[in-house]
Amino acid sequence: MKYVRFVRTLFLFWRTMMSAPNEPSFRESVDMMFNRAVALMDLAPGLEEKIRVVNATYTVRFGVRLRGEIKTFTGYRSVHSEHMEPVKGGIRYALGVNQDEVEALGALMTYKCALVEAPFGGSKGGLRIDPREYNAQEMELITRRFAYELIKRDLINPSQNVPAPDMGTGEKEMAWIADQYARMNTTDINARACVTGKPTHAGGIAGRVEATGRGVQYALREFFRHPEDIAKAGLDGTLEGKKIIVQGLGNVGYHAAKFLRDEDNAKIVGIIERDGCLFDADGLDVEAAQKWLANHGGLAGYMDTHFDKDGAKLLEADCDILIPAALEAVINMTNADRIKAPLIIEAANGPITAGADEVLCDKGIVIIPDMYANAGGVTVSYFEWVKNLGHIRFGRMQRRHEESRHQLVVDELERLDRYLGDAWSMSPDFKRKYLRGADELELVRSGLDDTMRVAYQSMREVWHSRDDVEDLRTAAFIVAIGRVARSYTAKGL
Ligand code: GLU
Repeated sequence: MKYVRFVRTLFLFWRTMMSAPNEPSFRESVDMMFNRAVALMDLAPGLEEKIRVVNATYTVRFGVRLRGEIKTFTGYRSVHSEHMEPVKGGIRYALGVNQDEVEALGALMTYKCALVEAPFGGSKGGLRIDPREYNAQEMELITRRFAYELIKRDLINPSQNVPAPDMGTGEKEMAWIADQYARMNTTDINARACVTGKPTHAGGIAGRVEATGRGVQYALREFFRHPEDIAKAGLDGTLEGKKIIVQGLGNVGYHAAKFLRDEDNAKIVGIIERDGCLFDADGLDVEAAQKWLANHGGLAGYMDTHFDKDGAKLLEADCDILIPAALEAVINMTNADRIKAPLIIEAANGPITAGADEVLCDKGIVIIPDMYANAGGVTVSYFEWVKNLGHIRFGRMQRRHEESRHQLVVDELERLDRYLGDAWSMSPDFKRKYLRGADELELVRSGLDDTMRVAYQSMREVWHSRDDVEDLRTAAFIVAIGRVARSYTAKGL
């Protein structure tokens, strides 16, 4: 056994040295993880291949007249699996967008939706652009034109394909897309459900912006409810005081770090950004750092004594929890063996390559996988889509009714309070807290919390009950693939 381990370590070392520059592509990496799980499953012949492959990827090149010339842009919308429709997944704006990437991300959406029981197939889109190069007016023109190309091919449609924000896009872009769809489909009563992540004044839902970061927090809270799982990572206790390093202070990283710090008393000791990193063993002020980043485009200049240009190095620092919340493949064969965090939660999509994943698992590091960890976004997107189709805000029918029933209980308790005199009285905050019916934000958070707990338990069940499943990612794939397989089988495939 020792010998086998030694040979394996030697092999991994050799692979680190040899293959770092040419690791598999993102899509190959996702497929390798898929294959690892599927090898432990008993699927009908051919079904495995049907699930793995990308159904279709549409590439569009379109021109927009900007600054006196025609600029040509390249965009993609990839549909990985239509076992359920609509298919769902964000649209990314970045210079590095390419077909392989959107296909990998589309596949991850299929498994993510299956794992959290959001009733969608998987899709993803992207536009090769650096959004910082254009002003808002130009971005609107570009986004509307891109949306037009996708809408006319039903690649944006409330019942077929529903995009959402991703890296480089947000509420603004989603509002333009929704409006573009409504202009092209003037009689579609469900037009607003063609895209999620819209601002609340344009059919969005409370809590969508924070959703992915909030989901990361709920995922960690659920993990820390299970002492055996905590022990597997070599940790103990609760989230309180845990030293966390977060890579990427965008929408996801920022919200996750802020909630974990402010509400769970974890310590954000490190923040890594494009231009370098901040480290403070006593904990950093996430909000102040984010404000600085938004105003200066980088962390340099903020808390100079804690700043270091070599951001990548901090990924390898001592901490309890590492949260990669930016790009894919940041932990790869060149640095995997130096990662020290005993627990990694993948807030980004695909931050760990397939090779690095094996190295980390071999070291006993517990990884809470992306398809679960960052599913908060699509979960709240699901709520938004349902709200748009229902044409009514959550809680509108029940809230005051709930409050008036609670009032009955409070009236009775007050009567008891008077009757019992000094012997008993209501706790000071009880009345205010109990009387308030839940608003949309509270309902969204409650739905997200439930989703994250249930999904974790389904993964965990497989992780703990099967000797051949050594990690949470394989367990997550097994749960997700099993559900997609059942869906195909029910269709007669
Ligand atoms: N882009 C996000 C993701 O990767 C959200 C997708 C959605 O809401 O449809 O999960």
